[in-house]
Amino acid sequence: MTDRLVIVGAGQAGFALAAKLRALKDTRPITIVGAEECLPYQRPPLTKKYLLGEMEFDRLLFRPEHWYHDNDVEIRLSTWAEQIHRDTKQLLTQDGGVLDYGTLALTTGSTPRRLPATIGGDLDGVYVARDKRDADMLADEMRAGRRVLIIGGGYIGLEAAAVARHRGLEVTVIEMADRILQRVAAKETADIMRVIHQDRDVVIREKTGLKQLVGRQGRVVAAELSDGSTLEVDFVIVGIGVVPNDQLAKEAGLEVTNGIEVDEFGRTSDPSIYAMGDCAVLPWKGGRIRLESVQNAVDQAEAVAAVIAGGSEAYDPNPWFWSDQYDVKLQIAGFNLGYDETMLRHGTREGSCSIWYFKDHQFIAVDAINDAKAYVTGKKLLESGINPDRAVLADQNSDLKQLLG
Ligand SMILES: Cc1cc2nc3c(=O)[nH]c(=O)nc-3n(C[C@H](O)[C@H](O)[C@H](O)COP(=O)(O)OP(=O)(O)OC[C@H]3O[C@@H](n4cnc5c(N)ncnc54)[C@H](O)[C@@H]3O)c2cc1C
Repeated sequence: MTDRLVIVGAGQAGFALAAKLRALKDTRPITIVGAEECLPYQRPPLTKKYLLGEMEFDRLLFRPEHWYHDNDVEIRLSTWAEQIHRDTKQLLTQDGGVLDYGTLALTTGSTPRRLPATIGGDLDGVYVARDKRDADMLADEMRAGRRVLIIGGGYIGLEAAAVARHRGLEVTVIEMADRILQRVAAKETADIMRVIHQDRDVVIREKTGLKQLVGRQGRVVAAELSDGSTLEVDFVIVGIGVVPNDQLAKEAGLEVTNGIEVDEFGRTSDPSIYAMGDCAVLPWKGGRIRLESVQNAVDQAEAVAAVIAGGSEAYDPNPWFWSDQYDVKLQIAGFNLGYDETMLRHGTREGSCSIWYFKDHQFIAVDAINDAKAYVTGKKLLESGINPDRAVLADQNSDLKQLLG
């Protein structure tokens, strides 16, 4: 019998869980098993400052190596967790290792969707953006004058487009849906972000899918698009969403539906196994959601740490997110799932504005574009459960402070 906590996944949530337990003075043995070769690091800069070459990798690390030693956290890098034996409470790793656990935490994150090989997805020069290796390969490709095709007009695709333009590339974004950001933001937000990119000479082609990539000697050279046109390209970035890494849990017989199912304490269908971060599906307002954000990975991991340490407080997410594109900061508070109404409000600075989301007349989220005041106000409203006065919000000259009462 051991009380060892084994954490699978050395990423945002895995690190936050270990760090919070130590901050709570929990002294149980902790082992983190991570597939990547580097210590846990933050991913957001991979399509922002790191890809721009403005941030060294060391600055992405949550903590330097000695932190793990000083805090008695064993970390096994370049190690793939292959199987969970729930009956004997053991984790098996691909290198033949067997780890006994008292508690197991799955923080395995998510994997970018790839294009099938039948349409050229396996050609050289076709990339996704998930980890340091991807970002390093992309940085090598990003040389002025080259032509990049970005497939998918979501946050990852648009951030990559911004970096590529900054580095002097010719950039085309194709989006199969009617508009960019279709899955994550309102039309108003998409309209503003489209203009921001077009003003910087990014070509955005909406309602345009990929038929297939064309290769020469194993490397992508062109893309045939759904409108019948062909585009010559030097390389391609695929940003078409992610799938949760729930295979390990599924094979162990845990409840899995597009992510590992957990309760409000982060517990899976096996009470000694927890899951959190991108790989977990959690209860939310009577339904279930999966959140792909730093906020959720950290807050959920910290909430689970408190539970493992003996607490009993449920995790109630207060989602927030951000995306940096050029000098534009998009900040999002709340979760706009199921919105049925939006309101656009201009900010006090040139180019600043906010889009407010409502569902059944209830305020649920705000997108703030270069508008920190709208973001902070929206976040406070959501945290305190106040439904803002619509007349005040609609009055473009009113002070947002009034909304907080
Ligand atoms: C390029 C990029 C930009 C982003 N920008 C933003 C942003 O601006 N704002 C924001 O809020 N969020 C952003 N995100 C999302 C955010 O980074 C993720 O939501 C967050 O990292 C999730 O944390 P996690 O711990 O669940 O997963 P991760 O941080 O992905 O960590 C999971 C780890 O588990 C490892 N793993 C998986 N399976 C196994 C196994 N079987 N054995 C061993 N190891 C395993 C993986 O290799 C990985 O290292 C971005 C993500 C990316 C990729």
